[in-house]
Amino acid sequence: MHEFSVASALLKQVAELAVREGAERITQVRVSVGEFSGVEPELLRLAFEQLIPGSPADGAQVMIEPVSLQAGCRRCETTFAVASFRFQCPECGSPDVRIVQGEELILESVTLETEE
Ligand SMILES: [Zn+2]
Repeated sequence: MHEFSVASALLKQVAELAVREGAERITQVRVSVGEFSGVEPELLRLAFEQLIPGSPADGAQVMIEPVSLQAGCRRCETTFAVASFRFQCPECGSPDVRIVQGEELILESVTLETEE
């Protein structure tokens, strides 16, 4: 499953960050998942649930935030939500649009706990 490799790559990133910051514990991990990123938020959550126990992020709270797909019209500059993958401007009908958000898969933030 694709989501497993995504989750394990993210966890590796988180673990490296924790080592670099000299953190004692990883308490929270936030990930933004675009609707058009090819990753299913629910499957990603399940993958994290299975991969986290025993990893450096053991006990961390994982928050997965879906990001809706939005496009912008190149002709009239209107920004609109894309429904049913219909890439056409609702204002002027132009099919010349670009994706503004929804393709991303981002590690938004990691909360670490450092021993004083
Ligand atoms: Zn337009």
